[in-house]
Amino acid sequence: MTSAWRATVLTLFPEMFPGPLAHSIAGKALAHQKWCLDAINIRDFAKDKHNTVDDTPYGGGAGLVMMADVVHGALCAAETLYEGKASPQYIYVTPRGAPLTQAIVRTLSQNPSGIVVLCGRYEGVDDRLVEYWREEKGLIEISLGDYVLSGGEMAALTLIDACVRLLPGVLIKEEAKTSESFELDLLEFSQYSKPRIWQNKVVPEVLLSGDHSKIAAWRQKSAEQITKERRPDIWKAYDNQRASTKRTQSGKGGSFAAKGD
Ligand code: SAM
Repeated sequence: MTSAWRATVLTLFPEMFPGPLAHSIAGKALAHQKWCLDAINIRDFAKDKHNTVDDTPYGGGAGLVMMADVVHGALCAAETLYEGKASPQYIYVTPRGAPLTQAIVRTLSQNPSGIVVLCGRYEGVDDRLVEYWREEKGLIEISLGDYVLSGGEMAALTLIDACVRLLPGVLIKEEAKTSESFELDLLEFSQYSKPRIWQNKVVPEVLLSGDHSKIAAWRQKSAEQITKERRPDIWKAYDNQRASTKRTQSGKGGSFAAKGD
């Protein structure tokens, strides 16, 4: 159990955890101790009798800022949970961070110790705290997207869920990890289930053929078409990669085989 991948969340609302993480895939894995979760209440590290965690910003302006010394106490408490292990990845979830990607999720899920996620509230945390933990412990800042949430808890839940499903033994079908959107540098192909005809919409015949190579070719084409239409940024990167692979292959006298074929 102690060697399991551990997620530690620092929050002013510990009761929000495990929340949705107690259900479905993440919940089952949690129950089976394939990972573990701690929620640390930042308020427990307040220094005054009123349990104050925030104060007005220097220079004025709206809102309050979470105080460096209080959050530092909570981070130090989190650190003790990983004693004797490799350092976890410290993360501050913030709209100012690097956008979360599947590649980042993969790296985090491969950290043998796990992650510590700091959730901000109000105007966020004192920047010196972020700077200190970046310099001393390699803290990174991650954003869920270009919008502002009222707190980091939703971001932490999302981030942890994405990591947990990549942990060994969590998904029943391990292949699901490698065929999904972003894992093959494309969005996922279209998927259908029973009935074969619904609202006059018919499942493509090839998917019923049992011919695995034809099905793989259809899925590749579907994934390419969907990516091209919906995410020109991902398509461009994929197309460039494909062109350079083709050049390398033809230089060696080989032929290009699309990923996933
Ligand atoms: N004043 C901050 C700014 O403009 O960048 C926003 C603070 S927000 C109201 C409060 C907290 O919610 C942040 O400290 C952060 O932890 C979390 N948060 C908000 N939006 C987020 C996002 N897009 N990704 C990750 N965390 C977010």
